[in-house]
Amino acid sequence: MVNIVLFGPPGAGKGTQSEKIIEKYGLKHISTGDLFRKHLGEGTDLGKKAQSFMDNGKLVPDHVVIGMVDDFLNDNTGEKGFIFDGFPRTVAQAEALDELLAKHETSINCMLMLEVPHEELKKRLLERGKTSGRADDQNEEKINIRIQEYLNKTLPVASFYEQQGKICKVKGVGSIDGIFADIAASLDAHFKA
Ligand code: AMP
Repeated sequence: MVNIVLFGPPGAGKGTQSEKIIEKYGLKHISTGDLFRKHLGEGTDLGKKAQSFMDNGKLVPDHVVIGMVDDFLNDNTGEKGFIFDGFPRTVAQAEALDELLAKHETSINCMLMLEVPHEELKKRLLERGKTSGRADDQNEEKINIRIQEYLNKTLPVASFYEQQGKICKVKGVGSIDGIFADIAASLDAHFKA
C-alpha cells in the first residue's frame, strides 16, 4: 500500500491537488473536513459534536476525529492506499494514525507539504467563500483563527514526519498543473528512493 499525508494550511490547495494525485496514483481519498461536513448535513451525533468547533474555526477534539478515521479505515479495506487530506492536524492525531495503520499492517510513506504564504491563503479562502457556501471561508476573523490553529497545533506535525524522514516540500503557488507536476516529481522520487 502507498499512504500519503497531504499537508498544508487552510487554502493551500489540498482538495484540488488531492483530486489529481488520486487520478494518477489510484489512491482512496479521505478528507476529515469533508466527512465532518457530511455528518453536519445529515445531522448525526458526530456532526453535532463537531459543529461548534467548525463554526468557530477551531479544531474538533482529537478523540472525535481519530474515531471517525478509524471507522473509515475499517470500512475501506482492500484499497491500494490512502491520501489523507486535512488529517492529521495535531501530533496526537499523527501518533494515532501510525497505530491505526499498523492495525492494518501498513504505514505512512510520505508527507507532502504544500507551502503557501499567509497573505495568499487569506485571499484564496475569501475567494472560495464566495462560491463554496462554506461559512468558515466567508469571514476574515474565522480565517485568521484557522490559520492560528494551523500554526499552533498543526505545524508541529511536520516535525513529527521530518523526524521519520518522510517529508516532501512543494511550493503551492503557481498554476494547478505546474504545482501538480512538482508534486508528482517529488512523489516519484520518494517512491524510487
Ligand atoms: P477543512 O475542510 O479540512 O478545512 O476542515 C474544516 C473544519 O473541520 C476545520 O476548521 C476543523 O474545525 C474541522 N476539522 C477537519 N479536519 C480536522 C482534524 N483533522 N482535526 C480537527 N478538526 C478538523
